[in-house]
Amino acid sequence: MFNAQQLAQFSEKETPFYYYDMALLQRTLESAREASQKNNFHVHYALKANFNDRLLTAIKDAGFGADCVSGNEVQKAVDAGFDPKKITFAGVGKSDKEIRLALGHQIFAFNVESIEELQVINELAAEMGTKANVALRINPNVDAHTHHYITTGLDENKFGVTKSELERSASVIKSCEHIELVGLHFHIGSQITDMNVFKSLCVKVNEWKNWFEERGIPIKVLNVGGGLGIDYHNPDENPMPDFKAYFQIFDQFLDRNPQQEVHFELGRALVAQSASLVSRVLYVKNGQKKNFAILDAGMTELMRPALYQAYHKIERLSQDAPSEATETLNYDVVGPICESSDCFGKEVTLPVTQRGDLIAIRSAGAYGEVMASKYNLRDEIRYVYSDELS
Ligand SMILES: *Cc1c(COP(=O)(O)O)cnc(C)c1O
Repeated sequence: MFNAQQLAQFSEKETPFYYYDMALLQRTLESAREASQKNNFHVHYALKANFNDRLLTAIKDAGFGADCVSGNEVQKAVDAGFDPKKITFAGVGKSDKEIRLALGHQIFAFNVESIEELQVINELAAEMGTKANVALRINPNVDAHTHHYITTGLDENKFGVTKSELERSASVIKSCEHIELVGLHFHIGSQITDMNVFKSLCVKVNEWKNWFEERGIPIKVLNVGGGLGIDYHNPDENPMPDFKAYFQIFDQFLDRNPQQEVHFELGRALVAQSASLVSRVLYVKNGQKKNFAILDAGMTELMRPALYQAYHKIERLSQDAPSEATETLNYDVVGPICESSDCFGKEVTLPVTQRGDLIAIRSAGAYGEVMASKYNLRDEIRYVYSDELS
């Protein structure tokens, strides 16, 4: 995936750095836009996956809205030029300050996660003499069949209101004069690759939509959240998710009347494949039981493997294409941080590696640089953008 010219330029750069393939990002955005427009679906990009300025500009220019999970993200989206009418604000713990900020920007909607939150937004909106659009987040109890840390739609998760609270939610909404219910919101988890999961979601959304409509409460927007996964194992073979197949599921299985809008909140699917974390091997330890490749990048630059044992493809970058004759060894590829969990991959087969070799950790565009930390007083993250290479 990297050509000789890129590699020559990489070798002159200080590592580690995030490398952004801006052409791939553009192709991904276009593919998602085309597939969603065909069905008249609205996509809000989930900023939390990556709020890098250059990415946000590209995403905004491609016509997407923004899905935010903090007041600062709402502000960031506004500053990046997203139309407030296309900004939503989700999250289980919105503070009063964050709610006021979002009310001030007159964003499209709050995705509300509890009855208490409905009441607080109502009060704050009243104080400000305004009205808040809300979408009620319903926990549909659908198993996303993904890592348990990134499953959010089961009864045992902290997100949304459950079935038993719906009756009360509906009556609270009715009694709140400064709240307008515009939609229902669902988000069941992340890195979902089994399309049947989305089918099950559609069935639940239909049920809840009917529940409201039977009670004479019209629902304008069905927001089905995000969660579409990517292929971490084969980033070159599958550089983009199958957006067409994804949107088709909802087109086929979601009951909606012609005035009803369908909203999506994609994060990872739009940005993950367009970045790699490029790092240098500092030391190689050939132990009795194991070989270690110690990198100058660690969990402080990319936390996903340490946080949820996430898999990322790891490659040694080299000018010579690997051949049958290339000798390989298995390495535990680790970072320099003083934590045993600072490990990018165990028993990774790589061409025999030495100090100074460049290593790419692929598919790092989502939940990568945004989770970076200063732990161990590490350097600020560095970036290289494909269109800025000479
Ligand atoms: C994180 C999040 C998303 C985006 O999830 P992806 O898996 O990156 O698509 C969408 N909606 C909500 C409410 C979220 O919390």
